[in-house]
Amino acid sequence: MHYKSIKEAVCKTALEIYKSNLVIGTWGNVSSRIDDDLCVVTPSGLAYDSLSAKDMVVVNSLGTVIEGDYIPSIETPLHTAIYQARPDVKAIVHVHSPYATAFAVANREIPLILEETAQVIGHPVRVAAYAICGSQQLADEAITCLSNGEKAILLANHGLVAVEESLSKALKVCLIAEKTAMIAINALKIGSINPLSAEDTSLLNEKFKSYGQEKK
Ligand code: 13P
Ligand code: ZN
Repeated sequence: MHYKSIKEAVCKTALEIYKSNLVIGTWGNVSSRIDDDLCVVTPSGLAYDSLSAKDMVVVNSLGTVIEGDYIPSIETPLHTAIYQARPDVKAIVHVHSPYATAFAVANREIPLILEETAQVIGHPVRVAAYAICGSQQLADEAITCLSNGEKAILLANHGLVAVEESLSKALKVCLIAEKTAMIAINALKIGSINPLSAEDTSLLNEKFKSYGQEKK
């Protein structure tokens, strides 16, 4: 099997979005860049519980299947457009998590209200204009919304997309966006929400770069 470790990592992340309830059924998809042209993407509409690394699909920047037994995700145009538009992006996770999607349905950005949101995402999560799933127009609207280095966007009436330098970071962006959306909705039920200032956001974001343990 070619690109074994990348396929294993994409499959592992796909299983994690399923276990974390960021998706139900067969919705959602994951990819990881191989190089300037190729990426590994999850197959379309396959049940998560029986997914394995060998089911992953290698596609080029035109969406042509280079290797794999299955049809790639219908959102392959979205994934390839993002890799072409954003050379810094190495991994993409797309989920239909309920609280983030509530903001996508209300056509409201997820506000920057938590320290984790400032640390991990660093910006409010804006909504890209509606376009039907799997379309080139959806990909075009998404990259317009991702043109200033954003790490996450909402797809109107659809879900959330996180773009990062690794799969684990993209997964974390999804988890934090979902948690932020949930807390924003709960806070709005009991009062109003107070977003963090731009100054505190950039302080938190900067500080987080050295958060955690150095490997010895
Ligand atoms: P796929 O199963 O083709 O990846 O599609 C799921 C999805 O989320 C469409 O937006
Ligand atoms: Zn979707």
